Amino acid sequence: MATSKERDQQDPLAGFKQEFFVEKETVYMDGNSLGLMSRRSEEKLKVLMDSWKTFGIDGWTEGEHPWFTLAETMSGRVAPLVGAGAHEVMVTGSITSNIHQMLSTVFQPTSERSAIVVDSLNFPSDIYAVESHLRLRGLDPAESMRKIESRDGYTLELDDIVEQLTDDVAVLLLPSVLYRSGQLLPIREITEEAHQKGILVGFDLAHSIGAMPHNLHDDGVDFAVWCHYKYMNSGPGGTGGLYLHERHHHLLPGNAGWFGSDKTRQFDMDHEFSKAEGAGAYQIGTPHIFSMAPLLGSLDLFEEAGIHAVRQKSLELTSLLRELVGQRVPQLVDVTPLEDEARGGHIAFSHPEAARICKALKEAKIIPDFRAPNIIRLAPIAFYTSFSDVEKVAEKLQSIMDNETYKNFSNERNVVA
Ligand SMILES: *Cc1c(COP(=O)(O)O)cnc(C)c1O
Repeated sequence: MATSKERDQQDPLAGFKQEFFVEKETVYMDGNSLGLMSRRSEEKLKVLMDSWKTFGIDGWTEGEHPWFTLAETMSGRVAPLVGAGAHEVMVTGSITSNIHQMLSTVFQPTSERSAIVVDSLNFPSDIYAVESHLRLRGLDPAESMRKIESRDGYTLELDDIVEQLTDDVAVLLLPSVLYRSGQLLPIREITEEAHQKGILVGFDLAHSIGAMPHNLHDDGVDFAVWCHYKYMNSGPGGTGGLYLHERHHHLLPGNAGWFGSDKTRQFDMDHEFSKAEGAGAYQIGTPHIFSMAPLLGSLDLFEEAGIHAVRQKSLELTSLLRELVGQRVPQLVDVTPLEDEARGGHIAFSHPEAARICKALKEAKIIPDFRAPNIIRLAPIAFYTSFSDVEKVAEKLQSIMDNETYKNFSNERNVVA
């Protein structure tokens, strides 16, 4: 077995580390919450600020990246990362606002079918969005929002998902990768099961986009939403994205705005809405140009590295991480599924003292991610984490546990944990 040093020397993606602002002594294992800044992203943000400086209002049509078509241009480059046609993807909104937009567009409750199925492990914002959306439609979430339960508190079973797909369900909304345990759900199988029962399927790709390839179109997924600030490294609050399968493109946006217009007609300023043909129709207002700019730089890096190479290295890094932690720190319980096909880009360990352990790691310049009540998430990022870094993480963890240095910290979480 090659040593970590040897693996770093043979790593085809090793050179990308210098593209990122990584503090020298630090190992950043939190790229699944907020990816680090790359030089390319910084550069693109500057370029777009310069276009404002130089062109004023003419920046909408002038310069290297005219703002009027920037979202459309970028969408064509994001599409391969989710396995969709360029016309099915739009860089816009945030995860939560895009859930609202997609539900308001595709969810057409009838007296027979009005329930939305979610899961008990999902991120709160997705749940709040579904509940409030149901209320807006005059439906009671207590009845119309169904939750798939988890047997072990960390993962979902296909059987339990299918069991919730009853005749009165209209939409199934699930994460591709569960944010705590890192379980990757079988997207194609779930979609097929739901479609057989006449149910529409949406996925939240927050924890998979930028970590692995997708096949949304071929898998038949109806809609998807995501952000670009996690594995896509495009900055805090960076503009997110949505996908709507072309079979639904006849639908008027549930929340319409002038940026959903056909681009050739938008400035006619007609009160009659001329819907754009593809996923662009589901944009609402003026795009957040500076919040999209870093994604331009990030896409350059993904195109150079290739998403399959990124996934390959990510799987190797997470395998090494769980192997080393398993050997050296057996006190931590690894709750991420074992099989490559069933896990995303991070490994989750549970321990009752997780909050304190995370603080001790931070002091040792390892940046982890704590998720209440007891989860330590560690995400080695293919672009900027080396095999040697992973070894260092396992060593520091071992020393923190063996010497009980975590006891020097309180087990409370900080405001932003
Ligand atoms: C990160 C994350 C969010 C955050 O939503 P925003 O609207 O981008 O703030 C929502 N859902 C999931 C599953 C997430 O992982």
